[in-house]
Amino acid sequence: MVRVRLEQGDITGVEIDAIVNAANNSLLGGGGVDGAIHAAGGPRILAACRELRRTTLPDGLPTGQAVATTAGRLPARHVIHVVGPIHDPREDRSDLLCSAYVNALRVADELGASGVAFPAVSAGAYGWPLDDAARLAVTSVLTATTNVRDVRFVLFDTRVHQAFTAALAAAS
Ligand code: ADP
Repeated sequence: MVRVRLEQGDITGVEIDAIVNAANNSLLGGGGVDGAIHAAGGPRILAACRELRRTTLPDGLPTGQAVATTAGRLPARHVIHVVGPIHDPREDRSDLLCSAYVNALRVADELGASGVAFPAVSAGAYGWPLDDAARLAVTSVLTATTNVRDVRFVLFDTRVHQAFTAALAAAS
C-alpha cells in the first residue's frame, strides 16, 4: 500500500528517488514547474530530453505518457517527465490525467524508485479545475499497482494544497 503525503513547497528541492515534471509534448522545456526543474537542475536534463527526441521520441512525449531522465544537479536522483492533458470543457480527458500519474509510477518501478514526488499535473497552465485535478491525482495514486511506497504531492501554493487535502480526506 502506498503512503501518500502532502506538503506545500517547491518540488525542485525535494530529496527523493524521483520527482515528476509536468512537461509538455516537446520535452524541451516550458514554464511553471517545468521551467523551475530545468532552471534548478541545470543543462544535463535538457540534454537528456534532446537525446530522447533524437532517438526514441522523435515526435515528442504523447499526452498521458511518462519518461525518465537524469535529475542533473537536483537532490532527487531522477526526473520523470509526464505530459498532462490540457483541460477541455467540451471533452472529458480525465483518463489521460490518470494515465500521467499511473505511467509515472510505472516508470518509477522500472527505475527501482520507492519514493516519488508529484506536482499538481495539469493544474497550472493546462487549466484543469483544481478540485478535479486533485481528486484524479489522489485516486490514481491510491489505486495504482506499484512498488512505490512513498508518494509526496509537493504543492506550490495554499490553494492547491487545500484542494489536495480535501481530495485525500475524501478518498481515504
Ligand atoms: P501544467 O502545464 O501541467 O498545468 P504547470 O507547471 O503550469 O503545469 O502547473 C502545474 C502545477 O505546478 C501548478 O499548481 C503550479 O502552481 C505548480 N508549480 C509551479 N512551479 C512549481 C514548483 N517549483 N514546485 C511545485 N509545483 C510547482
